[in-house]
Amino acid sequence: MSERLSTQLIHADDYKNRVPDVVSPINVTTTFRFNEDPNKLVAVADLPKDYDPEGDYIYSRETHPNCEKVEAIFDKILGGYSVVYSSGLGAFNGLITHFNPKQVAFGTCYHGVHAILDIQTRNHGLKQLSLSDEDLDKLQPGDLVHIETPVNPLGISYDLKYYAEKAHSKGALLSVDATFAPPPLQDPFKFGADIIMHSATKYFGGHSDLLAGVLVVKTKEIKRALFDDRINLGSIIGNLESYLLLRSLRSYDLRILKQSSNVLKVVTFLNENKHRFKSLTKIHHSSLQTEPYVKEQLPNGYGPVFAINLDNEITAKTFPSKLKYFQHATSLGGVESLVEWRALSDEHVEKTLLRFSIGTEDPQDLIEDLDQALSSL
Ligand SMILES: *Cc1c(COP(=O)(O)O)cnc(C)c1O
Repeated sequence: MSERLSTQLIHADDYKNRVPDVVSPINVTTTFRFNEDPNKLVAVADLPKDYDPEGDYIYSRETHPNCEKVEAIFDKILGGYSVVYSSGLGAFNGLITHFNPKQVAFGTCYHGVHAILDIQTRNHGLKQLSLSDEDLDKLQPGDLVHIETPVNPLGISYDLKYYAEKAHSKGALLSVDATFAPPPLQDPFKFGADIIMHSATKYFGGHSDLLAGVLVVKTKEIKRALFDDRINLGSIIGNLESYLLLRSLRSYDLRILKQSSNVLKVVTFLNENKHRFKSLTKIHHSSLQTEPYVKEQLPNGYGPVFAINLDNEITAKTFPSKLKYFQHATSLGGVESLVEWRALSDEHVEKTLLRFSIGTEDPQDLIEDLDQALSSL
């Protein structure tokens, strides 16, 4: 019997309980005593080829108990073999280091992902391609197509099946940054992804108090290779953060479903009332896209980030100060709603763009707040 999401979040790591505590303790130790039985001490050089380090704690840069508990939950809810990192970008760096593509095709995506690819180009001559058909035709076996969907900062969706077919027809792989629509909203493996990445700092953490990232792959062998690289890149999640993430995951489904239902109400309100707000020139969100693939990819709700354009830069800069419940800050995914004049974080966006991250407040309060602020312009 395979349990469902809410149950997985609370019980998928039960088999990793080490003590009677209902809440797993924070393990601050960096080092673990070796076995006292000399017969159980095996020299590294003599380890069998298929040796599995899971559950064998030696030094916390390799793995530690709450990291493995978080991975046990991610394996279930993301449907593959997961490796957890110290941040979302730590995860992307692990991906690029292991798969080591000569060319990467990508479109709009998180600015830090661009920056990592720029480092690869600077150091190793990695070739960067766009998502145009002409560029996708240049892909070679071992190359990577990297798609973020829904995409930062607009919250609109790309057609995963299309890019999966393009990548696979050339022997390239498809990685998907699914941070903006975690389960049960979207499952990129169903649409041909080979690797899924999330910044767990966002919805999985959910409280704006931890950094973490995760890669999910389809085989135990690739997981092991990523794990081995992670040891030497020094990019494992911290002890405290893994405890916090575990705590957050227990109630994750309640938050994401509320945030997703809230965003639909808020965006629908804005769209139906846009004639009343003369400064509001554009609204961007997957829920406003009409292409059939959008609903197929997001069968259980839309991602809680959307964006708007106002009619000029000064209005956009002052707008956050007119809102009562939306704090002006970057990042997303937490229980508190945020707004960001996006040009503060991303050099590639229009200076009239505001990005919203919807939290778990009452949707009517959020709507009334946006209504009064937009009406005042
Ligand atoms: C935040 C974010 C990242 C980077 O994650 P960190 O945990 O901040 O390193 C990557 N991709 C997307 C879509 C993000 O929103």
